[in-house]
Amino acid sequence: MAVSGERARTILVVEDEPDMVMGLRDALEFEGYGVLAETTGEGGIATARKARPDCIILDLMLPDRNGYQVCEAVREFDPRVPVLMLTARSQEADKLRGFEAGADDYVTKPFSIAELLARITAIFRRVEAASAAGDGAKITLGEHVVDLKAQTVTAGGKVSMLGFYEVEILRLLSERAGEPVSRDDILDRVWGMEASPTNRTVDNFVVKLRRKLEKNPAKPRH
Ligand code: CA
Repeated sequence: MAVSGERARTILVVEDEPDMVMGLRDALEFEGYGVLAETTGEGGIATARKARPDCIILDLMLPDRNGYQVCEAVREFDPRVPVLMLTARSQEADKLRGFEAGADDYVTKPFSIAELLARITAIFRRVEAASAAGDGAKITLGEHVVDLKAQTVTAGGKVSMLGFYEVEILRLLSERAGEPVSRDDILDRVWGMEASPTNRTVDNFVVKLRRKLEKNPAKPRH
């Protein structure tokens, strides 16, 4: 249950299966979250824009647009809202595509409600940790300046948004400046024990980050 005086966090569920929506709504409301639900991709995008939820649970298979397209559309106006993708598929390629589209985490159907709630708790814990970072939390990498709080990277006057995990990976790398950081270190620290990404997930984020930070991604300097 939500602590009184604290604003309840709102979670937008975008899912076309009525039983799944009902189950998620009951479980999330029981945990004290406010719940909005949409059954189409277009509806999900519109509600995400209007209501600015604190988290989006997004099904991959929707009747109109797929979850990747919805995620990309949401990222255009809200780069920061955590997006947890639901899918019946478990192939690695789908997960990578979801992360490429801007998803923060991934749960494969069938999942237990306990597992889903643990992922959401972990997402909000990371959001809190990020917002607790000081305004001056900045990292300089060559000509790039990464603002950990604003989740931006600036180079030559050009500002790009970074995803939540990208910021956390950069924070870890900067704390260990000069020391090697293993994939396991990144998995433990950035994703934590509740999530289950693979080493390839970490590699994918590092490749994406290099694209944003390196003039020549094929010959990384950082
Ligand atoms: Ca579906």
